[in-house]
Amino acid sequence: MSSIIQLLPDHVANQIAAGEVVQRPASVVKELLENAVDAKATDIKLIIKDAGKSLVQVIDNGMGMNVTDARLCFERHATSKIRQAEDLFSLHTKGFRGEALASIAAIAHMEMKTKQDQDELGTHIIIEGSKFVSQEVAVLPKGTSFAVKNLFFNIPARRNFLKSDTVEFRHVMDEFQRVALAHPNIHFTFYHNGSEMYNLPAAGYRQRIVGIMSGKTNEKLVPVNEDTEIINVQGFVCKPEFAKKNRGEQFFFVNDRFIKSGYLHHAVMAAYDGLLKDGSQPSYFLYLQVPPNTIDINIHPTKTEIKFDDEQALYAILRASIKHSLGQFNVAPVLDFDRDANLDTPYHYKDLEAETPTIQVDGTFNPFTDDKTNQHYSKASSGSGSGSSSGASYSSGSNSYSGGYSKRVEPTASWESLYVGLETESIESSPFTFENEEVTSSLFNDNEIEQASQGTYQIHKKYIVSPIKSGMVIVDQQRAHQRILYEQFLLNMTVNQASSQQLLFPLDLFYSSDEMTLIEELKPSLETTGFVFEEAKTDHIVISGIPVNITESEVSLVIEQLLTDLQDGIPASSYSQNDTIAKSMAKSLAVKTGSYLTEKEQDNLVNGLFACKDPNISPFQKPTFITMRVEDIDKKFAL
Ligand code: ADP
Ligand code: MG
Repeated sequence: MSSIIQLLPDHVANQIAAGEVVQRPASVVKELLENAVDAKATDIKLIIKDAGKSLVQVIDNGMGMNVTDARLCFERHATSKIRQAEDLFSLHTKGFRGEALASIAAIAHMEMKTKQDQDELGTHIIIEGSKFVSQEVAVLPKGTSFAVKNLFFNIPARRNFLKSDTVEFRHVMDEFQRVALAHPNIHFTFYHNGSEMYNLPAAGYRQRIVGIMSGKTNEKLVPVNEDTEIINVQGFVCKPEFAKKNRGEQFFFVNDRFIKSGYLHHAVMAAYDGLLKDGSQPSYFLYLQVPPNTIDINIHPTKTEIKFDDEQALYAILRASIKHSLGQFNVAPVLDFDRDANLDTPYHYKDLEAETPTIQVDGTFNPFTDDKTNQHYSKASSGSGSGSSSGASYSSGSNSYSGGYSKRVEPTASWESLYVGLETESIESSPFTFENEEVTSSLFNDNEIEQASQGTYQIHKKYIVSPIKSGMVIVDQQRAHQRILYEQFLLNMTVNQASSQQLLFPLDLFYSSDEMTLIEELKPSLETTGFVFEEAKTDHIVISGIPVNITESEVSLVIEQLLTDLQDGIPASSYSQNDTIAKSMAKSLAVKTGSYLTEKEQDNLVNGLFACKDPNISPFQKPTFITMRVEDIDKKFAL
């Protein structure tokens, strides 16, 4: 019987292995940049086209390769970085598996030019899908250039799996930033489709961070420095007041390599304990140096995760040193932690004059007398036209209370009156007169929700309760407001010409370049909401007009939320793009759970909700209100 086991041909094995190393253009960027760093380059250029789908090129001035190595480097397990297994434990380089170039060459068209300093001539190799197409001697400068074209040309399934250019570009940007942040002493330049994204001269950590993030970053940074036997910590954390809503700018580098560590992240967050608003995230750029033999970086194929020998000690050191820095730079006391822009009055209530709550105490009031001047009582009865004192509020209209109750009304009414001063405004629309047909002009005639806003009460700064004909309605204030704003924004973007308010002093906002890419793409849609951009280039935008329903102080919050919501790419169709923007803006601007609402605001909210096209659910598909029928309440009391 012939044997059925066969060795896979090399190019097939390479293609399979490539799947692990190369997921997208950004993986190629990472491998090539790291090789250039390992080759001790002091100047590295990254050039990409179409987010790296058509071209990723890395040019370095490093040590280069001789003619033999130039050929060998494309072989699987060809590496100059380890000679024996023990070397793995004292690694000072990024690569060590010797499979990146072999993998990339298996799934792309690749061209390499390389020359060592001492050699007169260099080597020029073209390799396509693991097949050597040509090898020539060439006149070249010192260093190496790799050009990777048409990634996944021979694996259409993988190529189709790639995301939009915006998404792929963000991944490339992430990898570039990580390598450039880890090596400030190297001059990096980065071009996308011919335009310069970054030109970062050799510098120190601080300058590099500012160069990558944006000009405004400098003032936000607090230095961290700690040197112990087991670890050296250097870098910067951001002042708590600059914490962001997204986790974009959080970087750990261990021995000059970007890593992710939930555990160390936790240590940083612990240092900020009590200094951050709920859910906000501080930026940090932390460079840890540990002896190479105390870590294991070989536990993950993409090598961004790491295992430390003495995790607990590192945790404690990291936390203490950051706490110390935050304390030393005295950032804590100047903060106003109580103020949370999220909890500010929602925009459309801002222009209304604040009503000072009044508490009137009726000194002469005696709950046990039959006093007909009881304020609440008499006002409540006025709507019904009933002049009778006792039980007045119950006799109106076609109420369901039988006269049999009238004798017992008195103490109830007196009890109610204790609330009088607290609700001066709402007396007219007291819950107990709400059922009066006369005052009820129904919004939803064939609906249960009838004029729900007649008499509202806020509970737990979260829900608004209001009686309705059949019982009561309980409205979730945050979700209701989201629904209202969402429909308003959508309407403005699609039907109405949104009006905008001109700013006296245009707002100048700074963003990182990948954020700017998103903003530029969103610009047309944002303009339909009422934003007016005076300028939008490289690292900042100048806004001279904003939608009428938001305030100046909310602008950066809204944009930041938008960037977070669109991190995974901008929807292709303009319909869903508008939808996403409207949702995101509704989310940032809606009144939050925990906000106190005046009665007028409660009223506006409930009315606004039921005037919506789709009042039942929030834009995020959550119920906005529930109803309870009197029968159900009765049942509970019958128990
Ligand atoms: P690894 O980096 O894990 O060793 P790679 O496949 O990335 O494996 O690279 C294989 C070898 O090719 C490296 O070990 C190195 O000797 C050589 N090499 C790759 N890129 C460069 C470069 N830019 N300059 C000099 N030598 C390089
Ligand atoms: Mg490598």
